[in-house]
Amino acid sequence: MRIGSFLGVPVYIGWTWLLLAAFITWSSGSTYLRIDPELGTTAYVVGAVVALGLLLSVLVHEGAHAMSARAFGMKVRRIVADLMGGHTAFEGRSTPWSQGVTGLSGPLANLLLAGVLYAVASVVGDGLAGAVLGRLAFINLLLAVFNLLPGLPLDGGQVLMAAVWRLTGSPHTASVVAGWSGRVVAVLTVAVFVGLPLAMGATPGLLILVFAMLISGFLWTGASQSIAIGRARQRISTTPLEQIMRPAVLVPAGAPIATWWAGDHQVYVTVDPRDGHPNGIVRADAVASVPLPMRASVPASAVSVAAPPHWVYEFDGRPTVEQVFGVMAQGRQDVLLVVANGQVQGIVFGADAMRLVK
Ligand SMILES: [Zn+2]
Repeated sequence: MRIGSFLGVPVYIGWTWLLLAAFITWSSGSTYLRIDPELGTTAYVVGAVVALGLLLSVLVHEGAHAMSARAFGMKVRRIVADLMGGHTAFEGRSTPWSQGVTGLSGPLANLLLAGVLYAVASVVGDGLAGAVLGRLAFINLLLAVFNLLPGLPLDGGQVLMAAVWRLTGSPHTASVVAGWSGRVVAVLTVAVFVGLPLAMGATPGLLILVFAMLISGFLWTGASQSIAIGRARQRISTTPLEQIMRPAVLVPAGAPIATWWAGDHQVYVTVDPRDGHPNGIVRADAVASVPLPMRASVPASAVSVAAPPHWVYEFDGRPTVEQVFGVMAQGRQDVLLVVANGQVQGIVFGADAMRLVK
């Protein structure tokens, strides 16, 4: 549900956020009602104000991420508030420095807001308005502290990742480390909210139990994703191109099989005789189905399939696996004919590439 935009970036709230808003309205409302039973339904109206205040706090947090990401030249796609707080989607080249600052900016904005709200609350005094402001200040303090826990997918995890990246020079290793740290945070979340009360002889409430499990599960999933992505990228950056690229032999489309076939350890690419453009890929199983005596007359074009458009890519010098992946991902190519220095280097199939990522 789009609710507006901030600096030209669309802002959405997810349906799950309404669940959180209802919970905050109810829990804050009943607290105020306990303090002052004469409030009646007004207590829940005030509860709704607190829920709205939380939404604004989350948007301030995400707005800070968006502003700092943009300051580093990144493209901010959208801002979303949902059950898990919120997130900001941006893309572009990051550095340890930009990642650290962007990650830190959200919690810092909440810390700043908490300070302002506390100051205003102390001026306003002990009344209902003061209590609401104080509660919002506390919520902002919680948002800041929780998000600063040093594990992905939390902001503190971004900061930790930036630091490890700076130290090791590898964003992939950093992603794995901050991901593992995120798993520890996920386990500690359950330990603090469920284990600690149990150890002290108390039974944690059902609501706390559900919320702790939800948050912990969310953290564990995000952390595991960071570990998986980090490992896959580590493999991509350390694998030599030969491991996923097959040798390719160019053959004229009209040349009979017998004149070029030398076994299926290499891939044969047919070339259009008119313009010299590689236009087809020979299928080894199609060649196998042609009886030996006929191979002297059946042309390459008869045993090949048409290559997809834009499948030939000329790199400046021999590319890395990372560069080949980048080109294939951008053009959604299943197959790429790698050309460098005017020479065909080989052919990369999406299926071979995928094995590296899994
Ligand atoms: Zn954040």
